[in-house]
Amino acid sequence: NRERLNSLVDVPAVTKDGIAISLSANIASIQELEQALKHGAKGVGLFRTEMLYMDGHTWPKEDEQFEVYRSACELLQGKPLIIRTLDIGGDKQLDYISLPEEENPVLGYRGIRISIDRRDMFKTQLKAILRASVFGSIKILLPMISSVEEVHKAREVLELAKRELREAGRPFQELIPVGIMIEVPAAATIADMLAQEVQFFSIGTNDLVQYVLAVDRMNEKISHLYEPYHPAVLRMLKLTVEAAQRHGISVSVCGELAGDADALPIWLGLGVRELSMAFHSLLNVKERLIGSTEEGGKRMMEELLKCRTSAEMKELLHDGRRPGQ
Ligand code: PEP
Ligand code: MG
Repeated sequence: NRERLNSLVDVPAVTKDGIAISLSANIASIQELEQALKHGAKGVGLFRTEMLYMDGHTWPKEDEQFEVYRSACELLQGKPLIIRTLDIGGDKQLDYISLPEEENPVLGYRGIRISIDRRDMFKTQLKAILRASVFGSIKILLPMISSVEEVHKAREVLELAKRELREAGRPFQELIPVGIMIEVPAAATIADMLAQEVQFFSIGTNDLVQYVLAVDRMNEKISHLYEPYHPAVLRMLKLTVEAAQRHGISVSVCGELAGDADALPIWLGLGVRELSMAFHSLLNVKERLIGSTEEGGKRMMEELLKCRTSAEMKELLHDGRRPGQ
């Protein structure tokens, strides 16, 4: 099986009816990027930068970050690189900043909320990303966005970062695309408004499922309730993708569900053209993809939207796994 999958590394990710899907990798380090490229990744759809911050004992300096982003660009040789700004808080902690003790950390001080609050730290990261942007094809991704105001506040800091680089005579990509994670139900609900503020969406199903269902993704006691195949989740996905399509911005999926081959008909049915996943899922998903059709996905999606329970959804998807679907 490994061998069969390995033979797919250089095979194009195209459905039987000719729809090309870009299969990219989620990475947290340069080592993971090397693995991802060996598995045929077409780029990086999500660079989780938390590890850069977790390794040391103090905030990583602009130069240190820049070096990491630049090496990623060099390895990618022009393939796209989506860098997500720091998404700390919730379950991810840093030794050197004392985040407040919170009753509900995942509803608390995390992601973009911290970046907007600690503008200097945020600006340092943005400057490092901007400086690396002349070495490749970089986009900036903002985590945990729940309102238009947050996008505006983040963009203010980005403008400040650009101004300082300009004044220092340092080159960067002026038109660097900015996108947001759609992982909070509020963002999915106002996706049509947010689509007018940014260049792309990346759907984070891990947090989206957690927040839509009010099920803590880390709590084992209720892990049976953590169910991506839920009608409410499906509707949120549809809302988000359709808003992106209506406003002509691109939309990818980077949560775990993107790496679940069983979910493929959902993406094909909705018209999603980019998936980003852990490198070890890439070939598995590609194998399923080249045996699928967009047409089959569309038919499946119509049926899925009628399902009232997760069990019905999963049964449909399971039955649909016959080749040719
Ligand atoms: C997500 O929430 O789906 C996601 C990709 O981000 P993370 O898992 O890093 O929270
Ligand atoms: Mg998330």
